[in-house]
Amino acid sequence: MTPPDSVRERYATLVEQVRAHREAYYLQDAPMVSDAEYDQLFHDLQLVESQYPILMGQDSPTLEVGGEVSSAFAPVTHASRMYSLEDVFSLEELTVWLERAQANALKLHPESPMKWLCEVKIDGLALNLTYRDGKLLRAVTRGDGTTGEDVTHNALTIADIPQELSGNGYPQEFEVRGEVYIGTDDFNAYNEMLIADGKAPLANPRNAAAGSLRQKDPAQTAKRPLRMFVHGLGRSKDFAMTHQSEAYELMRDWGLPVSPYGRVVTSLSEVTDFIAENGQKRHELIHDIDGIVIKVDDLATQEQLGYTSRVPRWAVAYKYPPEEVHTKLLDIQVQV
Ligand code: NAD
Repeated sequence: MTPPDSVRERYATLVEQVRAHREAYYLQDAPMVSDAEYDQLFHDLQLVESQYPILMGQDSPTLEVGGEVSSAFAPVTHASRMYSLEDVFSLEELTVWLERAQANALKLHPESPMKWLCEVKIDGLALNLTYRDGKLLRAVTRGDGTTGEDVTHNALTIADIPQELSGNGYPQEFEVRGEVYIGTDDFNAYNEMLIADGKAPLANPRNAAAGSLRQKDPAQTAKRPLRMFVHGLGRSKDFAMTHQSEAYELMRDWGLPVSPYGRVVTSLSEVTDFIAENGQKRHELIHDIDGIVIKVDDLATQEQLGYTSRVPRWAVAYKYPPEEVHTKLLDIQVQV
């Protein structure tokens, strides 16, 4: 279907807006709009593309992992690509997604009962850690998914990230991914300290975490209360386990920080229970979340379901409806 000029213009504007917001968010760590507003623009872009696929160029933002690589850091090509997540914004959309994934998984492994790994979606910044012979070799941001920024010196200042693994049985070399975040209490305490010193407070925990990890001077990063939880695997040789939840147990034994909030369930109703429970106690968790991530727990099925250019086909992010935020910080100058 040939799109009318008005749709072409709308499409070009949406692409331009999404690109500009991504640059502000990922490169400057200083978003110009709320996440919900950005999500709406991205969703509108996907909608126009689904109605008029002819408009979609090879470089459409909907085909890319949204991230930038700053020239302030050495670029590193990831040994195994890093991805974003497909978002759903309602339980109806989620059910459609889960039923489709379950049907595909059962086609591949009719004998295996379905296991879903439910996790909270930590609102932070993705970081890829490479360990060789039990020692931290490199820490690299997600960047555009293919190439990230080398922030090893900064990662070395984060106490949650072991410089050396404990126990034994870890692969000779492997990559583990996770989220760097600033906890709610730490964030509030840090801002109170800044205000007491007559300095501008940090805008919000997510951008503060991203800005802190991407400081040029590791001494500055060291002053920020950064933390990390691991939530995925990258390339690894000799990682002989069958489920991601099992990998977490091993990684916990090796001293890697594993979130206490995850749970393996076997039915769709238990998935929605997990969403409801965490929605209710959202503000009691130790860090901000912007949703729930549901993953196929079986690693062989993950590999067989594979990836699009932007997201895995074995995981989905359910986003909670945006909350009204009233904070006195909105009216005063903030820094990242
Ligand atoms: P995303 O943040 O929606 O999801 C992908 C990321 O979730 C992964 O890369 C991973 O780092 C993280 N994650 C957190 N917990 C996880 C867990 N338990 N398991 C697996 N992954 C987990 O995707 P994205 O592409 O990084 O960013 C898109 C989101 O960022 C948007 O939905 C929007 O909310 C926000 N954003 C906002 C602006 C803005 O201007 N406000 C601009 C760009 C992006």
